[in-house]
Amino acid sequence: MPSVTVVDVAARDGLQNEKTHLDTQTKLELIARLEAAGVKSYEASSFVHPRWVPRMADAEAVFSGLPPSAGVTRWALLVNDHGYARARAAGADHVRLVVAATETMNQKNANRSPAETLESYRPIVQAAKEDGVAVTGVIGVSFGCPFEGAVDPGRVLELAEKLAEMGVGEIDFADTVGMGVPSQVSRMVASAGERIPGMRLGVHLHNTRGTGLANAFAAVEAGAEVVDASLGGAGGCPFAPRATGNIATEDLVFMLEGMGVSTGIDLERLIEASMWFSKALGRDLPGMVTKAGACWTGAAPVA
Ligand code: ZN
Repeated sequence: MPSVTVVDVAARDGLQNEKTHLDTQTKLELIARLEAAGVKSYEASSFVHPRWVPRMADAEAVFSGLPPSAGVTRWALLVNDHGYARARAAGADHVRLVVAATETMNQKNANRSPAETLESYRPIVQAAKEDGVAVTGVIGVSFGCPFEGAVDPGRVLELAEKLAEMGVGEIDFADTVGMGVPSQVSRMVASAGERIPGMRLGVHLHNTRGTGLANAFAAVEAGAEVVDASLGGAGGCPFAPRATGNIATEDLVFMLEGMGVSTGIDLERLIEASMWFSKALGRDLPGMVTKAGACWTGAAPVA
């Protein structure tokens, strides 16, 4: 059976823009519930300056409170070498480095151009290699930018090639503000597969305009092995105006498992986790399967 790694980003992307601030203990409970549902890969926090993302100021405390990691991948998101040093000191051994595909978005995120950000990552990727740390390169606004509009896919693929040449183990195309459509996602993943053979490819999708799950389908059909999603569909982006949450993990798992694509995640337990999460945040979350129920048809999955 084909399989896809679902990376839950609720504890990072989900929480960083929610109005309700969850304390460290509640974040750790969220993570424990994800693990109990069989989620084997997730973003635990980000090591960015607390002035920019105050919700992630307790990244060290979250990492030090994690249960022993038997076969579980905990990602730390970072944007510079200071973040890398903090992540390492906190025991993180999987890091995601973010660069935005457009000048404006990257200036707003990191106060420098995409090219400058990439260059600053070179020594981090080198250090990670020596430290035995896995690195994913995340390319923000790969399918559209709230400030610059359409994004030239050639520009995105060029960044992907540079990241590959630096030595990252995985490349993630992020639809930061949900502007992508399936044909676009499909072409991007397929082109990256051709231009960077053997590279593990992923997508990070927001459902801002309702195309999130369709984009996930397109990505998987085109060969993506990793898809990000957020429990309940929580989240947004503090730097992207009007951004809404990621695709909901339960909706993604429902779709993939129904298609015969294995995720290793227990949907019923995930739904319970999503209900708990909704209560913790004090708001209704957009995830649809949690409202409707898993309601399997019982049909044998088509492999
Ligand atoms: Zn995001």
